[in-house]
Amino acid sequence: RSKDDVVLRVEDLQKSFGALTATDHATFEVARGTITGLIGPNGAGKSTLFNLVSGFYEPDGGRVEVNGTAVTGMEPYEIADHGLIRTFQTPRKLEGMTVREAMLVGPRKQPGESFLNLFFKPGEVGEHEAANLEEAERILEEFEIDHLATQPATKISGGQMKLVELARAMLADPELLLLDEPAAGVNPTLRNKLAEQIRRLNEQGTTFLLIEHDMDFVMKLADPVIVLDQGSVLMEGSPREVQTDERVIDAYLGG
Ligand code: ADP
Ligand code: MG
Repeated sequence: RSKDDVVLRVEDLQKSFGALTATDHATFEVARGTITGLIGPNGAGKSTLFNLVSGFYEPDGGRVEVNGTAVTGMEPYEIADHGLIRTFQTPRKLEGMTVREAMLVGPRKQPGESFLNLFFKPGEVGEHEAANLEEAERILEEFEIDHLATQPATKISGGQMKLVELARAMLADPELLLLDEPAAGVNPTLRNKLAEQIRRLNEQGTTFLLIEHDMDFVMKLADPVIVLDQGSVLMEGSPREVQTDERVIDAYLGG
């Protein structure tokens, strides 16, 4: 694979929490233009990997490259400037905000929960964010959630919140979008809409790295699929290869 075809390269990444090794010599690439799946049993280290790659955790060792640039140790907003945006498994608290305001809390800044709670005062949408207003409206329309724009962000369903998360991430115009269990808690109708949006955005040029628990959802959308087990990459392959692999079956059955 040539350098230009690789949007994310993870090399020998390492992370421990005390005695627990959450990421263990993780090495893989995400090819430009793909929807790459990332699966693995609970506690395999999927979310930790997202936190490392997006700059929310500092790795103990190893290297992360986005578009050929080493971003290891950079702050989340710097990594976002290189085109990598991520969503969170648990949508962040958006108390006191409407959906429209939530859309405008600087997506490029990738505020974490603490950041949002500390610094965001409801109703105070900054000037540069106002420039994004039109774009936010357009994306809400595309996602068919524009009717929710004036709703309090805490009053919408978990599934709708997941769509808002994806819409917010899209506002940052990412080259690579990392989605952490986007379909979790989403009802089948919205789930189909979510899959449709991911597919459409992918066709328009966004590369995806997708963590998903729902095998049906991920196997329909993603190719290739990377399997993580105990912090390491167990295998990578097409959905069919992954689903029929003995090692994968063993990992999921706790063997
Ligand atoms: P997954 O997303 O695959 O379910 P995680 O990456 O959330 O797994 O967790 C991997 C392991 O790392 C788990 O054992 C989890 O308890 C641990 N872990 C994750 N984040 C932290 C943290 N901030 N502090 C301590 N342990 C953590
Ligand atoms: Mg997780």
